Amino acid sequence: MPQDERHSDATLALMVRNFGNIGGEQVRHVAAREVPAPHPPLVVEVAPHTWMIQPGMANVGLFETEDGLLLVDAGSAGDGPALRDAVRRCSDKPLRYVVFTHAHSDHAYGLWSLLDAGERPTVVAHENILGHYARYAKTAGLNAVINGQLPGANGRAWPSAPEDFVVPDVTFRDSIELRLGGERFVVRHAKGETDDAAWVWAPGRRVLAAGDLVVGYLPNAGNPRKVQRYAEEWADAAEQMAALEPECVITGHGAVVHGAEAIRDELLTMAAYLRHIVRHTLDGLNAGLLPEAIVESLRIPAHLAGHPRLQPNYDRPEFICRNVIRRYGGWWDGRPANLLPAPAAAQAREVAELAGGVGAVVDRAYAVAGHDLRLACHLAEWAFLADPDDESARECYASVFERRGGTEPSLMVKVAFSEPRRQVRAR
Ligand SMILES: [Zn+2]
Repeated sequence: MPQDERHSDATLALMVRNFGNIGGEQVRHVAAREVPAPHPPLVVEVAPHTWMIQPGMANVGLFETEDGLLLVDAGSAGDGPALRDAVRRCSDKPLRYVVFTHAHSDHAYGLWSLLDAGERPTVVAHENILGHYARYAKTAGLNAVINGQLPGANGRAWPSAPEDFVVPDVTFRDSIELRLGGERFVVRHAKGETDDAAWVWAPGRRVLAAGDLVVGYLPNAGNPRKVQRYAEEWADAAEQMAALEPECVITGHGAVVHGAEAIRDELLTMAAYLRHIVRHTLDGLNAGLLPEAIVESLRIPAHLAGHPRLQPNYDRPEFICRNVIRRYGGWWDGRPANLLPAPAAAQAREVAELAGGVGAVVDRAYAVAGHDLRLACHLAEWAFLADPDDESARECYASVFERRGGTEPSLMVKVAFSEPRRQVRAR
């Protein structure tokens, strides 16, 4: 896999573990139709006439009936041709329905290739998808930056032009039932990673296509760089899905889950995990605690934290807690000095002055790193901000964060903690 300046070998390995067919050029060109995933699609027949296709980093569900096909999601823009070929290897029936589970860049943008090939499906999505398309168009630059994206051949780094978006033919609010080949497919709305989520239940097959509501790691309900997530409603959706007793779940990313008992265990543990964080956070807010005190006192019980498919490989419980705080409270952290603060660099220069110079702050950062990496990160950042031209401060900043990133399970933390090295190189 080609190296990428944003991602170290360790973060790429974690991406592959979480997402499967990811890497190479596509990881930085998710909006480019001409940039495919690094490997041919994985195609797995999960039940009779039912497939999980992994054309890129996200999974697609394919249901074949006598009267045609129903597809759940369509991957990233660059996944289009591989998805079309994979669908056609499974079945030659016409594509009748496509359901988008949400508007994210890795799920709703690869359909163009099947449309170009002459397919004319009815596209179904939750009504809020239109608001997400509008948000993508309005914040293309921001999303390109926070997702580390570069422009493709059309000059766009993020879906933002009308031709990037497939507008649904049918939208729904709570649920909608589709009939195909004499079979029922129930599409239900949920809120989780987004407020436009949908999941598809095929009762005749006992197969559920969950989109990113089920991904095999701790739900991405806290993401520090993204818009609001919905931990409480995510728990509701997990319980609703569990109540149906599916035999197979086609996930949004990673492996398919088989077996009623394993699925029930995963979904109900996920719901309990999210509810635990929400309850802790609301209790703290209602007791008048500051955000810092709420996050610092969060403990995840071992029976939740130990679930093998709910590990913090991507998001972290602390971030989910912060997201709940943001949902119900304001942006201020409650510390008066931070309401209208002095610039961070001015604060850092004062710390260095008190310490007797940047060199003393650097020495202290390395000393503290031996027993408290979290605290050492503050010292290293003060040293760098106090004098970004100081060679020892630059190296300290990059190396202390690198060390801490090496101890972190979460992909988004690893990426964030590799940023000091890039900042230092950029100078
Ligand atoms: Zn996804």
